Amino acid sequence: MLHIEESVLEINFKALQQNFEFLKSKTKADTKFLAVVKAFGYGSDAIEVAKFLQDELNVDYFAVAYIREGAYLRAAGITTPILVLHPQIVNLKHAIAYNLEPSLYNDRIFNAFAKEAAKQGKKDYPVHLKFNTGLNRLGFFHTDTDYIFKKLKTLSQIKAVSLFSHLAASEDKNEIDFTKNQIRLFNDVVANFEQTFNYKPILHMTNTSGILNYPEAHFDMVRTGIGLYGFGNDPKYDKHLQPVASLKSVISQIHRIEKGESVGYNRAFVANDYTTIATIPIGHADGISRQFGNGVGSVVINGKKAPIIGNVCMDMLMVNITGIRCNEGDEVIIFGEGQTAEELASKINTISYEILTAVSQRIKRVFL
Ligand code: PLP
Repeated sequence: MLHIEESVLEINFKALQQNFEFLKSKTKADTKFLAVVKAFGYGSDAIEVAKFLQDELNVDYFAVAYIREGAYLRAAGITTPILVLHPQIVNLKHAIAYNLEPSLYNDRIFNAFAKEAAKQGKKDYPVHLKFNTGLNRLGFFHTDTDYIFKKLKTLSQIKAVSLFSHLAASEDKNEIDFTKNQIRLFNDVVANFEQTFNYKPILHMTNTSGILNYPEAHFDMVRTGIGLYGFGNDPKYDKHLQPVASLKSVISQIHRIEKGESVGYNRAFVANDYTTIATIPIGHADGISRQFGNGVGSVVINGKKAPIIGNVCMDMLMVNITGIRCNEGDEVIIFGEGQTAEELASKINTISYEILTAVSQRIKRVFL
């Protein structure tokens, strides 16, 4: 175990590998595996995580949200194909320069990319066609296939290497009918493609919960983000997954205050008894939401929960350690052993994804 001397985000590659193997075990042997590494690898470290996934686990594809994120991976030596889920027209020329494969989700981006690929003299440049089957976020409407496939057929500069869609509520047991309908609509899109073209693109639809709950929607490739990082959006799956990232810090200073004394900005906490408090060097600029202040969130010190008191500051927060045996310099766990990111998320009505991706880039990453 590392001795913690400052705020760090520990990234555990063994956990990443175990999660990968668990998710892989849920698919057929020949199902391709796409790892979603957007938002700095869900807040971990996109480059180191992508290198491990590429070099040790041989994933087939990566996905990022923006072209800039893909360029960052390429510059770091990632050579695996990268799908850019949400490209913008202004950056399309960079997509080609960095050998990134755009998702084309509407006419505007389709036409702009076809134009750019032609301008650069490309032939069969790989693109991914996204279809909206109910999420109503991005994608050609599923009934627009005739028109879009006909148009695609006339163009030699781009080639649809995949067709995909995204599930809206794959973790939600009340939305099984809705999800099955999304899968049916996607199958219609695929059938139409097969009538128009004489090759088979990669078909993909599932995110982590989709992989776990809808094997019939695995098609040729699965896309997983949160599961790789250790969360299955369901306690039934969480027990097979191991959180990859642990956010840790140290106690900088301990104060003992009397009844009536206050702590932090705006005197938001006032002691109603003799109280021992600890100051921790991590704050809202590091991704610890101010919503965790005033007793909503807590940290773990020597196995015990210490509630955050007063307002979370930009670079520090204070916790009540009355009754907890600890010293200045002791380790503090914000999320990791003793409190998961999921548990923390539930305190402020959000999801583990937001807690993980909020960890700021100024926090040092260490790799186990
Ligand atoms: N596919 C798409 C299009 C996404 O936007 C995301 C994440 O937001 C994923 C897959 C991965 O989802 P999850 O992290 O739930 O596995």
